Amino acid sequence: MALRTDTFDLGGLRLSAGEGRRLELDVAIDPFLVGGERYPVEPALVPCRLDISRTTGDGYALRLRFEATLAGPCMRCLEPATPTFTVDAREVSQPGETDELSSPYVHRGVLDLHAWARDALALALPAKLLCRPECAGLCPICGADLNLAGADHAHEQTPDPRWSKLSELRFE
Ligand SMILES: [Zn+2]
Ligand SMILES: [Zn+2]
Repeated sequence: MALRTDTFDLGGLRLSAGEGRRLELDVAIDPFLVGGERYPVEPALVPCRLDISRTTGDGYALRLRFEATLAGPCMRCLEPATPTFTVDAREVSQPGETDELSSPYVHRGVLDLHAWARDALALALPAKLLCRPECAGLCPICGADLNLAGADHAHEQTPDPRWSKLSELRFE
């Protein structure tokens, strides 16, 4: 069973300027709420690669890479979806320099890996979570799954006589 890393003490590595270290860590990423649906992140412990370079002063240049899957309903066809995303994020923490070089995830030499991994994954997510990029979605008239119904699924102008009655009434 892998150990879960939430924070990592960069200072504890005792790197000198110009030195680097590559670490394989496991991070738990909190579920996402999108459009009122809950999307847990899989696996429960996401293996990630953290590259740490000590810069001058008390600074660090960091690179975080991992792959994670969200599990939940497809936003077009509502069938179960498990889209996988690749994350490659960088941070620079250079205390004593301008604010632009201070990472929100590094405080006193300790990296908040838990927060960074989740934010980095959030940035990698598309506007819609889909079962597959070319998902055809549901028929707007009858609600049939167009992935199953096929490309020739179509309707007459008035699919149900009751609806045509209603539209007649509206104009009376
Ligand atoms: Zn779909
Ligand atoms: Zn239809």
